[in-house]
Amino acid sequence: MSTEPSLLDPLTGLINRKGFEEKLKAAILYAQQNDHPLTLAFLDIDFFKRLNDGMGHEAGDIVIKAIGDIVQHVAGDKAIVCRYGGEEYTLIFPDTEREQAFLLVESARAEIDQLKTLSDGKKKVNAQVTISGGVAAFPIDAQDENELLRKADQALYKAKNSGRNKIVLSYEERMAPKTSHYTLTQLERLSELAREQGVGEAVLLREALDNLLIKYKHAFASRK
Ligand code: GH3
Ligand code: MG
Ligand code: MG
Repeated sequence: MSTEPSLLDPLTGLINRKGFEEKLKAAILYAQQNDHPLTLAFLDIDFFKRLNDGMGHEAGDIVIKAIGDIVQHVAGDKAIVCRYGGEEYTLIFPDTEREQAFLLVESARAEIDQLKTLSDGKKKVNAQVTISGGVAAFPIDAQDENELLRKADQALYKAKNSGRNKIVLSYEERMAPKTSHYTLTQLERLSELAREQGVGEAVLLREALDNLLIKYKHAFASRK
């Protein structure tokens, strides 16, 4: 099935962020309706700014394309590989348990780690590049697409913070209770939003806390 040109990234030929969002939504709906698993991976090239600064933006572009090609090749035809932004990729694995997807992404990481030269098919760049990644699955780690992306991103953050060049699986974090007071208006609006979105109020509050931590740069390596 061909993808509309407006949903493709011109540099890599991969699906762009808009396309990714559409495909993820559709894939989750399908997984939900058919009671199938679905896994999402979030990948990010390590220390890419350094490579760009040292070798130039054009070499950086070649690396972005080359890594995209390798990831697509290793992940296989079933995986929907997207360029989420700059040097970040997302992979949707329909019908795939997280351990199986993890192994594919881990193979891509290991293959990239071995390479001393990267090629976009035309030009070569002599550089050793590594990637980090986070993997999360529906419905085991998350109930909707936003939560799934957040879980994969949190796992990526752990990979970055624990030395890079690794793929980390999301896991259900241990929950701890915390009591707070909110204004009645906030609570009414929260309850309305929860109804609109079809999710629990606690899910929204946890999302709000994650967003607060991003805002103050305490979380999510890829949104520095
Ligand atoms: P980390 O290991 O934490 O991911 O470090 P990093 O240096 O890879 O992370 P950061 O997000 O700071 O750097 C990403 C860089 O990617 C910054 C930007 O200049 C570069 N970049 C973004 N889009 C493109 C692009 O299309 N082409 C090239 N060559 N560089 C890009
Ligand atoms: Mg990076
Ligand atoms: Mg990044």
